[in-house]
Amino acid sequence: MANKKFKLCILPGYRCNFACAHCSATLKTPQRLADSEIQSILAAIKAYSVTSLHFVGGEPTLYIADINRILSGLASLKHTKVRITTNGHFGATKKSAKAVLASLLKLDYLQLSYDKFHREFLPFKNIRTLYNVCLEAGVEFSVAISIQSPLDLVLAPQLKKIGDFPIGVLKVMPAGSARENNLAYRYPSFDKRVLSKKCPNHKTITYMCGEGFTSCCSLLSFGEGSARFAHPTMRAHLNSDFYKLISRHSFGEIMRMSGVASTPLSPDHSSPCTLCAHLFKLGPVRNIAGI
Ligand code: SF4
Ligand code: SF4
Repeated sequence: MANKKFKLCILPGYRCNFACAHCSATLKTPQRLADSEIQSILAAIKAYSVTSLHFVGGEPTLYIADINRILSGLASLKHTKVRITTNGHFGATKKSAKAVLASLLKLDYLQLSYDKFHREFLPFKNIRTLYNVCLEAGVEFSVAISIQSPLDLVLAPQLKKIGDFPIGVLKVMPAGSARENNLAYRYPSFDKRVLSKKCPNHKTITYMCGEGFTSCCSLLSFGEGSARFAHPTMRAHLNSDFYKLISRHSFGEIMRMSGVASTPLSPDHSSPCTLCAHLFKLGPVRNIAGI
């Protein structure tokens, strides 16, 4: 297992200076990584073949000192790609954007979250500033848009006027604040193709601040009892029944193996994470995952 290549996503804390209406991250306690957690992360990076580190949040640039403690603990930064997903709050001026980029010991890739939810907090002009500063600094740039309906993609052509960068699209899931505020993406009917899919995150391990290593960066990690899906060491997580189940099997296989193949599914379950969160509420699925 130590020779298998992993991407490690790290959530250094849940604090954020925006308050997007669909966000579940800020519902969690806004703690920061303890010293012992930083040591566990560094031990995992040393023991396993971790090819990239992706810092997310909350807003990760509110935790630059902790991020740099992790980066400075690596034997070499040369072979590890460093990426952040940010709300871009520091892009008000070229000076402030450059200062934040320069404050990170290494940065290869910046993904900006921008959509109708973030638009309430981030002036559009900041995006151009961030894009230009990244271009000058040799940092790859992309934008991730969360959508409630295909109509929300109207933002994409506006973004394309700024420059030629990738735009990723995420569908808002029916959980936490998004569910409470009725903001989830609506599927017209159940799409059974989801049954042949695996967890979309199965090649990445996430370190969730205050909880541990987990294969989940989504609904199981932000739902009730999230700590049950996490382990204090990467080894313990990789050896867990949960990791083995979620990384090796499609959702259809998990349903058959646990004997819940005939459970009724709704249009919302067309999304892998929504189906996954639904299945892990069922006793037979939890039993085979040892949760
Ligand atoms: S910027 Fe990101 S972490 Fe902050 S409130 Fe918005 S979605 Fe949540
Ligand atoms: S909710 Fe399930 S499918 Fe989605 S990332 Fe988490 S473990 Fe994977």
